[in-house]
Amino acid sequence: MTKGYIVKCEGCGKDYYCESTGNIWPGGKDHETATCPYCKAEGPSEFISGFLHTYKLDENGKPVR
Ligand SMILES: [Zn+2]
Repeated sequence: MTKGYIVKCEGCGKDYYCESTGNIWPGGKDHETATCPYCKAEGPSEFISGFLHTYKLDENGKPVR
């Protein structure tokens, strides 16, 4: 299961793409925190059995992989 969403960084104000892979567990025991690909500020965190990946956005707003 993969889902992604746009995050606005609180550190540098840029938008980036945060994608989680694995299963979302409300109250799960694994806690992953997204990291801004521009300034490395911490972004949203999720309880997830998987990984959070962040990508910069290109000029069309698509994640750069
Ligand atoms: Zn940032």
